Amino acid sequence: MTKKIKLIFLGTSSQIPTAKRNHSAILLSYEGESILIDCGEGTQRQFRKARLNLCRVTRILISHWHSDHILGIPGLLSTLALSGYTKELYIYGPKGTKEFMRDLLKIFNFQKKYEIIVEETNGGKFFETKEFYLESERMHHGIPTNAYTFVIKDKSRLDKKKIKKSKLPFGPLLGKLKEGKDITYNGKKYRAKDFTYKEKGKKVSVVLDTLINERITPFVKNSDILICESSFSSRNNKEAKEHLHLTSKQCGEIAKKSKSDKLILTHISQRYEGNIKELLDDAKGVFKNTELVNDLDEIEI
Ligand SMILES: [Zn+2]
Ligand SMILES: [Zn+2]
Repeated sequence: MTKKIKLIFLGTSSQIPTAKRNHSAILLSYEGESILIDCGEGTQRQFRKARLNLCRVTRILISHWHSDHILGIPGLLSTLALSGYTKELYIYGPKGTKEFMRDLLKIFNFQKKYEIIVEETNGGKFFETKEFYLESERMHHGIPTNAYTFVIKDKSRLDKKKIKKSKLPFGPLLGKLKEGKDITYNGKKYRAKDFTYKEKGKKVSVVLDTLINERITPFVKNSDILICESSFSSRNNKEAKEHLHLTSKQCGEIAKKSKSDKLILTHISQRYEGNIKELLDDAKGVFKNTELVNDLDEIEI
């Protein structure tokens, strides 16, 4: 069985936080990894409300350096220092992130016993393990901006029934089969493809602030979960374009064209607070399996 990915939407507002919605932040947890995607103002308190230990964070991905996505960073780093965080903290972001982080740590100078490693990514894989990888793609939002995907790779599994029938002995030979290598046992050849099957991986895509552009759909192709910023409905198409944002309808179109399974709308503007349905219906008109999240909502896949 594949292990689950857990998503917690810590903050779901756009530029101005409201009584109900905190600035942008999403926590993606998988095995020992807890990856925070953006860190808007007050994110550390959202951890407390969600009863999550801040010290579990392993990596922070920054979509871009607009205030609603990054104002929580100094507070979070300071609390980590006070909480005895001793891991290496990896921070990834678009071009300019190294300089911004250097300046930020100059202003908010605090004693810490952990190391911060800042890496810039402007497209392509930037972190990979045997099981999963993280990838970025450049977006269009007036300043350097990234979309991100978290991808669990397909796995090769042994077909236990066929193995039992074959009477192959347990041990390194089966290991080779699992790796896709053909083997010979007692003079007989066994082909890997006859004794293994593929367990499909998973993909979570996060597309925050951006103007619609041709790079989005191929990047998020076949996502199990596609998270998109939903700052405007298509009624405000003109404003969305002017401010370099997506409309909910465009989110629906991306989900449909990319053959994604489920669309999640976040980054909600206060102008829709009393009329969330407008955003939801706008996307659902194109792509049915759409959900609009509130602060502290959780999704597991
Ligand atoms: Zn924003
Ligand atoms: Zn922005």
